[in-house]
Amino acid sequence: MLKIGHQPWMEILAEAWRVYPNEACGVLIGQSGDDDPILRFEPIENAANSSRVFTLDPMGFMKAERRADDDGLEIVGVVHSHTHTAAYPSPTDVTEATAPLVPPTWHWVIVSLAWGFPELRSFRVQAGEGDSMTLAGIAEEPVLLS
Ligand SMILES: [Zn+2]
Repeated sequence: MLKIGHQPWMEILAEAWRVYPNEACGVLIGQSGDDDPILRFEPIENAANSSRVFTLDPMGFMKAERRADDDGLEIVGVVHSHTHTAAYPSPTDVTEATAPLVPPTWHWVIVSLAWGFPELRSFRVQAGEGDSMTLAGIAEEPVLLS
C-alpha cells in the first residue's frame, strides 16, 4: 500500500502539468517501513527531456538523496508521468525498475495525463523469472491519501 500526504500528492500533479507534454519525474521521500506515509515529493529534472521516456537527472537525484538523508529519511519510490498512455508501467519502466541497484521495495508511481483528467496509480515491480522482462511481476498497490 502507498500512503501519501495531500501535500506531496498535489505537488506530483502540479509537476506533471508543469512539464507537460514532457514526462515529469521525481522521487518519494519517507521512512523505509512499508506502512509509513510518503512525506515529501522531490521533483527532479527529466534529463531525457522527452514526452515518451524519463531519466532522473543524476545530480538532482543525488541532491534529493542527500536532503532526505539529512532529515533521517530515504528515497522510497519514483514518480513519473505518462502524457500519452495509461498509468501503467511501460516495458522501459519495467527495465528501469528491475535494474541492479534499484531497491525492489520502491514504489513506482505513475500519473497519467493522457485523458485530461489525472490518474495516479502505484506499483511494485519485481524482476521476472529467467531472462524474460515481459514476465516481470507488476503488482498494483492501493493508494491511500493520508
Ligand atoms: Zn513510464
